[in-house]
Amino acid sequence: MAINDHSVHFAPLRTLRERAEEMLRLSPAEIAGMSAEDFQALAHELQVHQMQLEIQNEELRHAQVALAESRDRYSDLYEFAPVGYVTMNQDGRIVAANLTATRMLSVDREKLLHAKLANFVAPEFRDTFHQHRREAFSTGLKQICELFMHTPDRKSLWVRLESIAFGSDTQFLVGHEIGSAPRDKNAAIGSPVDSDRECQTVLIDITEQKRLEEEVKRQMQRLKEGDRRKDSFIATLAHELRNPLAPIRNAVEVLRENPGKSSADADLKWASEVIDRQVSHLSRLVDDLLDVSRVTRDQLELKKQKVLLAEVIDSAEEASRPLIDEHGDQLSITLPLQPVYLHADKVRLTQVFTNLLHNAAKYTPRAGRITVKAELHNPAYSFPQVIVSIADDGVGIPPDHLPHIFDTFYQVERSDALTQGGLGLGLTLVKRLVEMHDGSVEAHSGGTDQGSEFIVRLPVLIEPPEAQKLAPAPKKKLTGRRILVVDDYPNSAESFAWRLRRDGNEVQTALDGRTGIEVAERFHPDLMLLDIGMPKLNGYEVAREIRAWPWGKEIALIAMTGWGQQEDRQRSREAGFDGHLTKPVDAGELEEIYDKVLATRAESKKTD
Ligand code: ADP
Repeated sequence: MAINDHSVHFAPLRTLRERAEEMLRLSPAEIAGMSAEDFQALAHELQVHQMQLEIQNEELRHAQVALAESRDRYSDLYEFAPVGYVTMNQDGRIVAANLTATRMLSVDREKLLHAKLANFVAPEFRDTFHQHRREAFSTGLKQICELFMHTPDRKSLWVRLESIAFGSDTQFLVGHEIGSAPRDKNAAIGSPVDSDRECQTVLIDITEQKRLEEEVKRQMQRLKEGDRRKDSFIATLAHELRNPLAPIRNAVEVLRENPGKSSADADLKWASEVIDRQVSHLSRLVDDLLDVSRVTRDQLELKKQKVLLAEVIDSAEEASRPLIDEHGDQLSITLPLQPVYLHADKVRLTQVFTNLLHNAAKYTPRAGRITVKAELHNPAYSFPQVIVSIADDGVGIPPDHLPHIFDTFYQVERSDALTQGGLGLGLTLVKRLVEMHDGSVEAHSGGTDQGSEFIVRLPVLIEPPEAQKLAPAPKKKLTGRRILVVDDYPNSAESFAWRLRRDGNEVQTALDGRTGIEVAERFHPDLMLLDIGMPKLNGYEVAREIRAWPWGKEIALIAMTGWGQQEDRQRSREAGFDGHLTKPVDAGELEEIYDKVLATRAESKKTD
């Protein structure tokens, strides 16, 4: 400001000087004609202006010092910036570099200047670098890339480069960003550019960031591996737990179907009922474990067909009725007047509502109220849905637990009196199964002791189903057949054989694969039930060998195992099995699969 102010006063000063010079040019006669006052006035004016000039000089000196200080400040900012700055010419040679860049690349500035930046780039990243530089020059736009670099003292670092080319006009530098009006917008990559153009490049050391990224990746990998091992452990555990359950269930059935009359028999009846109830409970836990391990590995398959919602709710009520009655709860169910059809796996959808009803009873103190209410919803711009609410007036769910309630193994911690057992898997299954039906489920609760409500939304089928498909087939039992049961678990083999004999079949057993083949050759069974995991010969090997004999071609071979996943079924099909059942096998299932085998055989004979 001071300089500008003074420039205003220079005009009279110049006039004054002109006047003084004019006076020097006067002839002695002319000078003699001037008055003493004129001389005095001029001398005074000259004095005043001399003082003004001195003041201006002083201010100029101050301005110069301020300018030098500010230049030093900016120079410091440039030199010690937290990022490296280098300027490259078109050959990629460094023409300027700040101190941070020299430190980053561990090289003196003299050596850095005129060196090529490419020399510091790891060979595998050179192409990336050249492309980056070419594009910076040809487009005039900021280019960014990440490279691995080596320094002369063998240090390695990850660097992020941000480059922009500029000529002599509008370049400017702001913080870490270099901005410039893009020129040569239409220039093709690699096209010739002005020879005096340079490229300003920011180098940001991202070695630590990369290390952390790698660490996170490694941790994720480790977590995934741990998760995979846990899933596979759960599947194995469930399978191993399931094996002994089958013979226990068969044995209980034997006990129940032979009711005696003495009081000792009454005790026996009571005991068998207790075992039956506990085995059912255990089976449900083990099944949940298996199902969860299947859904988390996307190995659960749905058998969808047209299903009536009312039938699903009926079955769920039937399954949870014992617990509801035991708790003395009151259950009311309201369904839409018109039939609601769904495209669903009936067994799995029943499992959804059974789990929700079970929980409603489990988490509602005695004599509570449970309501099931289904309503049709026809949104204007979407497909019709049925919204089913399962509500109770029980212990409720605290708000901070609500967001996690569907997570695997998640359980709300409650006081001992309210802890109800379970594995924290029921709601995980509910959610996954509902989603597999293209629906959704949400939980609501006003908090502790305010009850809970679960809302399930499912898409509705519009066309009515064929009547005969909906009629449940009456449960049949296999009878009048020659059956060979091969299982290395004697209790399992014998108890199952007992049930089949009781239904009027001729049954033999074998406890290993080799004996199984020998018995089959003599006995000529219609049907062979084979365990898979057996000593000597496993189930697959037995199946292959039997199929190789002329007498073995016609036998219906059914695998009977704890492993029911898709790849297990595939393996047994490839070994020559006609069917695959998971333990514990019930007689109705066996009849059904045997019928299917016979029907398939009859069909293929017709086409031969
Ligand atoms: P589990 O019942 O085996 O613990 P779930 O996955 O079925 O596992 O449920 C997870 C948790 O959600 C339960 O531990 C329970 O605390 C809570 N919960 C589920 N349903 C209800 C309900 N109707 N009322 C109150 N709490 C519930």
